[in-house]
Amino acid sequence: MARLTVSAVPVLTDNYVWLIRDSETGETAAVDPSVAAPVLEAAAAEGLRITQVLNTHWHPDHTGGNVGIKEATGCTITAPAEARRVSQVDRVVAEGDRVTIVGAEAVVWDIPAHTAGHIAYYFEDERMIFVGDTMFAMGCGRLFEGTAEQMYANMQRIAALPGDVRIYCGHEYTLANAHFAEHAEPGNAAVRQRLEEAKSLRDQGKITLPTTVAEERETNPFVRATNSQDFARLRAEKDSFR
Ligand SMILES: [Zn+2]
Repeated sequence: MARLTVSAVPVLTDNYVWLIRDSETGETAAVDPSVAAPVLEAAAAEGLRITQVLNTHWHPDHTGGNVGIKEATGCTITAPAEARRVSQVDRVVAEGDRVTIVGAEAVVWDIPAHTAGHIAYYFEDERMIFVGDTMFAMGCGRLFEGTAEQMYANMQRIAALPGDVRIYCGHEYTLANAHFAEHAEPGNAAVRQRLEEAKSLRDQGKITLPTTVAEERETNPFVRATNSQDFARLRAEKDSFR
């Protein structure tokens, strides 16, 4: 098995670009590069060689760095078909495709709703999944190109993974999501505790991710919704929650 480690490059306001590296060879994949320069700088500073870019969906804050990184490194770009509207793509993938990423294998999931072609990359052996803007710590993505039914199914599918699977999300939204979760479930002690942890981490300027499947089952109101109607009500409430 490849010895993979994952680190975050914080970019733009609250995006994370994830670097998946083989710690023996320095071979690296960049997930959802919003921009090229900070990602290339972070890789250079650590002696990493970016050979692959992976996109979860077409949004420019997840694909804007694709071409710049490819020009600098000659990497291959793997993405859902929808990303072709904004970027060159070398390999289009969809549900069930298996991709080898710096020596490890990931299976692609179609998880539409935030965008119509949104995908996730699940590394079963490494116990990690890259979910883009579909699930966040204690929250979920907005429904730009899909339905509450689809997003509810995505939540249930991710939550059915083993509890120790780490979930890598596209944005640092945890604190705002924790405030909404407390509003949605005022009696949930795990939510209360996680809100305090998120406050403390953010006060120190620290990242709150990745999260885990087990933590989301305990604290994510969108995962804990009992059915798609309940989910839809929560999602609509969150859209206007301040
Ligand atoms: Zn997005």
